Amino acid sequence: MALARVPAAARLLSSPLLQYFLRPFSSSASPPRSSHRRSSPIAAAFSQAQPPHAVSEGQVMEAPRPSSRRPWKPTCLYYTQSKCTMMNDAMHLEKFSHNLMMDLPANTTAADKVKPQKLDYLLILDLEGKVEILEFPVVMIDAQSMEFIDSFHRFVRPTAMSEQRIAEYIEGKYGKFGVDRVWHDTAIPFKEVLQEFEDWVGNHNLWKKERGGSLNSAAFVTCGNWDLKTKVPEQCNVSKIKLPTYFMEWINLKDIYLNFYRRRATGMMTMMRELQMPIVGSHHLGIDDSKNIARVVQRMLADGAVMQITAKRQSATGDVRFLFKDRIR
Ligand SMILES: [Zn+2]
Repeated sequence: MALARVPAAARLLSSPLLQYFLRPFSSSASPPRSSHRRSSPIAAAFSQAQPPHAVSEGQVMEAPRPSSRRPWKPTCLYYTQSKCTMMNDAMHLEKFSHNLMMDLPANTTAADKVKPQKLDYLLILDLEGKVEILEFPVVMIDAQSMEFIDSFHRFVRPTAMSEQRIAEYIEGKYGKFGVDRVWHDTAIPFKEVLQEFEDWVGNHNLWKKERGGSLNSAAFVTCGNWDLKTKVPEQCNVSKIKLPTYFMEWINLKDIYLNFYRRRATGMMTMMRELQMPIVGSHHLGIDDSKNIARVVQRMLADGAVMQITAKRQSATGDVRFLFKDRIR
């Protein structure tokens, strides 16, 4: 059924002939071990050419938006990391979206249904990487207007892993999306990611007092507690940094969902299915998952939900206190 919706251009992209020509740039070939440098612009452009059109495991075709006749395009993952050098290339702009707002329109007709919020901004975060963090994507939404404000996205290079292991890990994780090349081109260590993230937070005036401290009327939103309860502290340990204060409280969307709709959702896919929302992009590509979770947040705000902190840690090494009685365990 999904295939029937694939536009002609997309079918062409997945044709065996074109695949042949794309091969030199294709992600299926293991990247050379010294491939940390930026690859050629052409390779960059093609690095994501295949995945959104290929229906395979872990991928979801995006349903066409009724409001838009334009074919959906994959997002340029150099652009999301402020590293696209092809913004003047018409062919590149034709192939890749350079506008995250398109996938995150605020439902202005529901603006009067939004309840007064305790927080001004929501930072939707959905980490990727089980052994070490591989991707750190944040989508920023205005809690009251539901509008997309900005995003922060970085691929993260593991610090305690051999090059060989990283290459295998990345091929297994991102190869199926065709974005392993862009990962190798752009990934930086977690410590540097946090420095750049803190700059970004500062640019949005989101520090309550000092840099690295608490957020000012803003909070992370995650789908489950794993990201901030488990993974970030683990990665801080591996990267030998103290857990920053701004990671010590968050909103677990599953708990908000349970207490608002009185239904248990085990994950993002369940929420989207229940709310009858189409998935955008590739499931388990962090930036796309963050966008989809942000869309669920926008929908819940439009339905009248109030976003509030569900989990808090008293100190960098302290236990997590959960604030809702009814919650997903
Ligand atoms: Zn680009």
